Amino acid sequence: MEVTINHLHKEFGRFAALDDVSLQIASGELIALLGPSGSGKTTLLRLIAGLDHPTAGQVLFGQDDASHRRVQERNVGFVFQHYALFRHMTVAQNIGFGLKVRPSATRPSKAEIRKRVLDLLDMVQLSGLEDRYPNQLSGGQRQRVALARAMAIEPRILLLDEPFGALDAKVRKELRRWLREFHDRTGHTTVFVTHDQEEALELADRVVVMSQGKIEQVGSADDVYDRPQSPFVFSFIGESSHLPVEVKGGTVLFQGEPIGVSEEREVQGDLFFRPEDVLLTQERDALFGKVTASRRLAGTRIAEIDIANNGHAPFHVEVEVPLHAPVELGSDVRFRPTRWKIFPR
Ligand code: ATP
Repeated sequence: MEVTINHLHKEFGRFAALDDVSLQIASGELIALLGPSGSGKTTLLRLIAGLDHPTAGQVLFGQDDASHRRVQERNVGFVFQHYALFRHMTVAQNIGFGLKVRPSATRPSKAEIRKRVLDLLDMVQLSGLEDRYPNQLSGGQRQRVALARAMAIEPRILLLDEPFGALDAKVRKELRRWLREFHDRTGHTTVFVTHDQEEALELADRVVVMSQGKIEQVGSADDVYDRPQSPFVFSFIGESSHLPVEVKGGTVLFQGEPIGVSEEREVQGDLFFRPEDVLLTQERDALFGKVTASRRLAGTRIAEIDIANNGHAPFHVEVEVPLHAPVELGSDVRFRPTRWKIFPR
């Protein structure tokens, strides 16, 4: 099922939680909504689910305007982080519930429901726990039951809000892989919310980066990591440093001095670069500063460098260098970015 989101606005009182959000989700895509707390991810998911109504704008399922359809009519499966299971029902009853309450014409037989429940339990690796009650499960197990329950109704769209938020790191990783496989097998259009960028980059076909109720960028993991379109995305995804620069005559100047980097556009702005995209150098035209910390990172080393700022607080940057590079604490180093982007100011 294809989903089209057209110019969605959502206001709470006078506060705009979503501000003109448009997004096209292809059928069968696995999409991550990624952003800091309060950026509007859950609000967007709730509008797609039909749990809330937009102030303006539309949500289309295929050609069908779902904006004013009720939750029940949308046939979406959703799992929210704190979405409770039915306490008085066993695991099997919880998972089968959505099928059991269908009108008789579309309701599978008892045996079919039982089979589907057991298949789903197997898939979420909880076989044998079908007769337990929710309070006899761990948080992670409950979350997997909630996933199985959402999938039992064979939804047109699966919406997951921080589905693995409450789980420990190892289980999280396993479930992530499992969700990807499950998605590839079933082809559900799936939208999940996360503030964990590793989860978003690893799992999703496309990542929607949100900030302050707006979409900053939509793209593959490579797009948002290698080609960030805004200072926000550059800073939010992965590690980066930035320095104020100006470009004159094709040369990038920092504090009026060339740093060995050229750029065609004559701009004033911020030069962003990632720690791994720098080269230590002896040349005069370079950035230079003092190493204030140095730590090993698997096979390489991260050096933190303070760059003097005419008596003001120094600029602080991080660079990744070979393990045995000469970056002892307190030493002076020269370096220049090998990949960078300047955002005009
Ligand atoms: P988090 O990662 O913390 O869950 P989020 O990106 O999912 O954040 P939302 O829950 O969508 O953010 O909230 C976006 C903004 O809208 C926040 O500033 C929040 O306080 C506000 N907001 C959300 N729901 C309501 C509500 N029912 N009434 C008033 N304000 C709300």
